Parts: sequence; C-alpha cells; structure tokens
Amino acid sequence: KENKLVKELVRERRPREVDGYVGFANLPNQVYRKAVKRGFEFSLMLVGESGLGKSTLINSMFLADIYSNDHPGPSHRVKKTVQVETTKVLLKENGVNLMLTVVDTPGFGDAVDNSDCWQPVTNYVESKYEEYLNCESRVNRTQISDTRVHCCLYFIAPSGHGLKPLDVEYMRRLHDKVNIIPVIAKADTLTPDECQHLKKQVLNEIAQHKIKIYEFPDEEGDATSAKMKQRVPFAVVGSNTTVEVDGKKVRGRKYPWGVVEVENIEHCDFIPLRNMMIRTHMQDLKDVTNNVHYENYRCRKLAGVGGTDGKIKMTNKNPLAQMEEEKREHTNRMKKMESEMEQVFEMKVKEKMTKLSDLESDLQKRNESMRKKLEADFAELEEERERFEKERKAWEAANGTTVDELRRKSLESISR
Ligand code: GDP
Repeated sequence: KENKLVKELVRERRPREVDGYVGFANLPNQVYRKAVKRGFEFSLMLVGESGLGKSTLINSMFLADIYSNDHPGPSHRVKKTVQVETTKVLLKENGVNLMLTVVDTPGFGDAVDNSDCWQPVTNYVESKYEEYLNCESRVNRTQISDTRVHCCLYFIAPSGHGLKPLDVEYMRRLHDKVNIIPVIAKADTLTPDECQHLKKQVLNEIAQHKIKIYEFPDEEGDATSAKMKQRVPFAVVGSNTTVEVDGKKVRGRKYPWGVVEVENIEHCDFIPLRNMMIRTHMQDLKDVTNNVHYENYRCRKLAGVGGTDGKIKMTNKNPLAQMEEEKREHTNRMKKMESEMEQVFEMKVKEKMTKLSDLESDLQKRNESMRKKLEADFAELEEERERFEKERKAWEAANGTTVDELRRKSLESISR
C-alpha cells in the first residue's frame, strides 16, 4: 500500500505536458494588468553641490516641470545647510502611472564646515527603510507604499580634478544603503578628451576607495547595454529650453559656437542614462534596493546590531529582552485602551442619566400643570353648583313648594 502511495506521489511530481490550450499562458497578462492597475513607485535621490544642474536634469529626464515656478528648484532657494526635500509627481504615459518621488539635498557643500553633512541624507534613507519595515510588521500589510530610495544620482563637478574628498566621504556613507549612479554634471563644459580623462579618473578613485556603485546586470547578447555600461560615470547635460537645430526643435544649450543637444548621444550620456534608469533598469534598481540594501538594513535591525550613523539607533538588546519589552508595551497599551473604554462608558452612562432626569422633570411638570387644570375645573364646577342651589332655593320659596315635593306628586299622578 505504501509503495502505491509513493508511486502516486512520484507521478504527481512529474511535470506534465498539456496538449491543448488551457489558458494559463495568459498569466503574464494578468500580472501585467494588475501591476498597471496598481501603478508604480520610484524614488530618485539627487545628491551633489547646488548649482550642478540637478533639477534641470530631472526636468529634462521626465520631460516635465518637476520643479516649476510654484516649486522652485534647490538653486533658487537660499539654504546653507543640508536638508532633505521631497517632491512627488504622478507621471502618466500610455495608461501607466508612475509616482515619482524626487529627493533633493539642496545646499550640499555650501557650508564652510561640511563635516557630517551626509547625516540628513543617510537618516532619510534609513527612515524610509524603517517605515517600510514597520509597515511590513503590521497586521494589515497589504498595499505597502514603497517610499524607499531606489536610486541615487551622485553629481560630480566637472572640475577635471576627479572626486573631491567630500565626494568620497559622502559616497562611502551611502554606498551600502542605496544604489549610487555617479554622473558628471554639466559635461558641456568639458572637451571630449577632458571628459574621458575625468571619467577614468573618477572610476579609478571609486575603485581605490572601495566604493560600491550600482552595477548594471550583465545581459547576455545585449551589445547596446554593454556599450552603455561603458559610459559610466554618465557625463550629462541638462536644459530646460529648446533650441532649433536644422529646423527641428530640440532640448539643448545654445553657445556662440554651436548647440549642445541634450538628447544627442554624440554630445553627452543623457540618453544612455535615461534609458538605463527608466526604460531598462528601473525594476532592477527597485529589486536591488529591496533584495540587497533593504535586506541588509533589515538584517542589521532584526539582529539588533547597533549603531548606524543615523539618528535611528538600532536596538542592542537580545531578542528575549526585546520580546519582554514588547509584551510590557502591549500590556500597557491594553491597559490604556481599557481605561479609555471605561471613560467612554462612564460618559455614556452620564449622558443617559441626565437624559432620563430631564425626561422625569418634564413629566412632573406636565403632571403638575394637569393637576392644576383639574383643580381649576373642579372649583368652577363647585361654584356653578352653589349658584344653582341658590337659584333652586329662591324658586322653592317663591312657589311655596319644593322640587322634591313636585317630583313626588307628579310620580303619584302617573302611577294613578
Ligand atoms: P541644482 O541646484 O543642482 O538643482 O542646479 P540647477 O538645475 O538649478 O542649475 C543651476 C544652473 O546651472 C542653472 O543656471 C542652469 O541653467 C545651469 N545648468 C543646468 N544644467 C546644466 C548643464 O548641463 N550645463 C551647463 N553648462 N549649465 C547647466
């Protein structure tokens, strides 16, 4: 009997080929429809000195005025400290909704003393992980909004001298928390040779300081992807205005000696960066954020390894002590809820009592007035009766007989 059972189990496990069309080939479409319905979320962080063209690049990238007059870009605001600011925009394209969150760090590097200026940025990144972790541990954890930072564009000044010490420090603080994509800002201010040289120098320094930047995954047989990967760090140019080139309007920057076209692959790496970040690797950026950076955070947090450099301090307790504490917290919460409920109950009882006493006094009043009315009626009737008695007596005296006498006589005559 056992043998038969084993055989059946084995048969169950063997993959079966279905001859006819059942319809589960439609599964990807179902997933697709669901995903489209839900919409997508993407958070992009911009880090770099103010004035390097961060907001201009973002506007060029999403073909939208993410920073408009109502919401000026960081350069137009006077800030001397590093502050994290977020701007949310809902972008729609062919029925697909993308909720884009741009996280900006205005004023970075403006201060004389820039020590610890990455703190608000790392704090922000970790606070988003913490939020996500908290949402995940709730009882109801469907539809968690993902506000984790999926990608960080690190803007390097086109100075020709490679990374500044602040850049190195900043990237080292961030590289195990977010996907860093280094970009060389305002590449139109460099000649092609200078640009190539700066790229090499930046890559060397990144390797030298063991900074981990986002690695685009290898895709077999994808020659263009490999070619684009060679462009890292992307040398970019941004522009909020269009200029005419050969009768065509293009996004670009006009100089006395010619036009730099933002979307021309010969002029800069804007298109490769945009394609990789938005068209081909957005999901991978999200996956790496979830599987690597968030997972690291989660492990650190849950294992109780203390001391990140952020505001959020990990707990250093052992799991049992933590459970005890959570239990205590739970009991306290329950007690608080209980006392709150008791208060509510008391209030309700009080309300009911006052209502009842109001009703009672109302009834009493009505009763009293009714009694008074009856007494008045009674007195009136009494008066009437007395008047009638008087009249009767006067009549009897005038007629020398009484009403009773009259009644008796008339009864006698009837009976006769
Ligand atoms: P942010 O502070 O980093 O956001 O910088 P903005 O986007 O506000 O740009 C600061 C200034 O740099 C503005 O005057 C822009 O017109 C200019 N700018 C932006 N992008 C580029 C670029 O790619 N090349 C050059 N030459 N100038 C740029």
